[in-house]
Amino acid sequence: MRTYIHEIDKYIDHEVTLKGWLVNKRSSGKIIFLEIRDGSGFIQAIITQDGVSKQIWELANTLTQESSLIITGIVSQHPKKPSVFELQVSTIQIINIAQEYPISKKEHGPDFLLNERHLWLRSKRQWAILKVRDVVETAIHQYLHEQFFVRTDSPILTPNACEGTTTLFPVPYFNLGEVYLAQTGQLYIEAAIGSVGRCYDFGPVFRAEKSTTKRHLTEFWMMDAEAAFVEHEENMQIQEELVKAIAKQCLKKCQEEFAILERDTTPLEKMLTQSFRRVTYEEAIPLLHSLGSDIKFGEDLGNDDERLLTKESEVPVFIHKWPKTIKPFYMKRDPENTDLVLNNDLIGIEGAGEIVGGSQREDDYEILLGRIREEGLPEKDYAWYLDLRKYGSVAHSGFGIGVERMVRWMSGTEHIRECIPFPRLVNRMRP
Ligand code: ATP
Repeated sequence: MRTYIHEIDKYIDHEVTLKGWLVNKRSSGKIIFLEIRDGSGFIQAIITQDGVSKQIWELANTLTQESSLIITGIVSQHPKKPSVFELQVSTIQIINIAQEYPISKKEHGPDFLLNERHLWLRSKRQWAILKVRDVVETAIHQYLHEQFFVRTDSPILTPNACEGTTTLFPVPYFNLGEVYLAQTGQLYIEAAIGSVGRCYDFGPVFRAEKSTTKRHLTEFWMMDAEAAFVEHEENMQIQEELVKAIAKQCLKKCQEEFAILERDTTPLEKMLTQSFRRVTYEEAIPLLHSLGSDIKFGEDLGNDDERLLTKESEVPVFIHKWPKTIKPFYMKRDPENTDLVLNNDLIGIEGAGEIVGGSQREDDYEILLGRIREEGLPEKDYAWYLDLRKYGSVAHSGFGIGVERMVRWMSGTEHIRECIPFPRLVNRMRP
């Protein structure tokens, strides 16, 4: 019977057929060990010269790394490790003998591997990261649906920027001149809450920043969520619950992947039992000074500052209520201090850096118009956005989470380029 490796434990002592690829072959005299993968997992298949026909034995000897095959045998439990299963092979059908595979077991440099990304994806580590990514994405959808958020996708081609055009990719567009690839869908889903109350989008966004850090891609996947009648504190609460829901699902579903990635899951487990810390920007600056940073009030936090603030922490840290001078026009002013806005960054632990950015949005027509004018933004382009404040305006808040940042953190991966199937970086577009 055809089955998949991830459910092989149901078939102990039964004959099954697997369809997959050869990862590795070792032979010792009259035994050949084949490591097989089928997309759902990895298994060792054992061929003994006495247990198969001469023809099958010879076929097995011709197999090369990455050859595709259909293999049949009896499932057995590893004699010493009861959670490990093996296949005692009775027959093999070769589908395709792979040519000499460029990725071998020896160490390869990142440039070489990125050039071979279409093949590199097959390696165990990359498989594990793809699986974690799938669990992260599914957990986001699941949590938001449980909280009555409606998926409402936003456009990718947009006529104007959310925060100015300097970090946007321009695209020529028929007779309408230049349009841009979206860097967030936020403004659009703010419109959609007028219809569905709570909503989110999920899709690729594009940033033309020349950042070459381990946390920046030029194309990445973002989930923007937005909710009517939600204010600053509740907005942070939703973010905390969402991050915990993602971590919980990863711990539940990715144990095999975490073992491959050698990811110690203790910090995630500890994090789930505690509340996230909340520090205002005003509190963060002297705290950073005491930790050795030379950041000045009114500056954005750098990578090192984020690391300092979370170094000793078992939980992610919200840095909230930032100076309005360094934040976009749409963020709502703090009624207690109008030089500040009701926003937050959420800094993950274990060097994850900024994972989520959110804010309560300005819902007052006059104040928003004033902010658009102060920033010198083209007023007519924002007329529709201002309209939202004319017809039944309500307090509302939202946030954006970078999917690859989350995958990088959950999987314990050093560089974000491994957290998306085909990374787009400042100096890389292929394959
Ligand atoms: P950073 O300061 O780290 O560049 P940002 O403040 O520009 O991030 P936001 O505009 O708040 O980020 O975007 C929301 C989320 O999207 C971030 O919290 C982060 O998770 C993710 N993100 C932002 N820029 C990138 C990028 N270039 N590559 C991958 N993820 C990103």
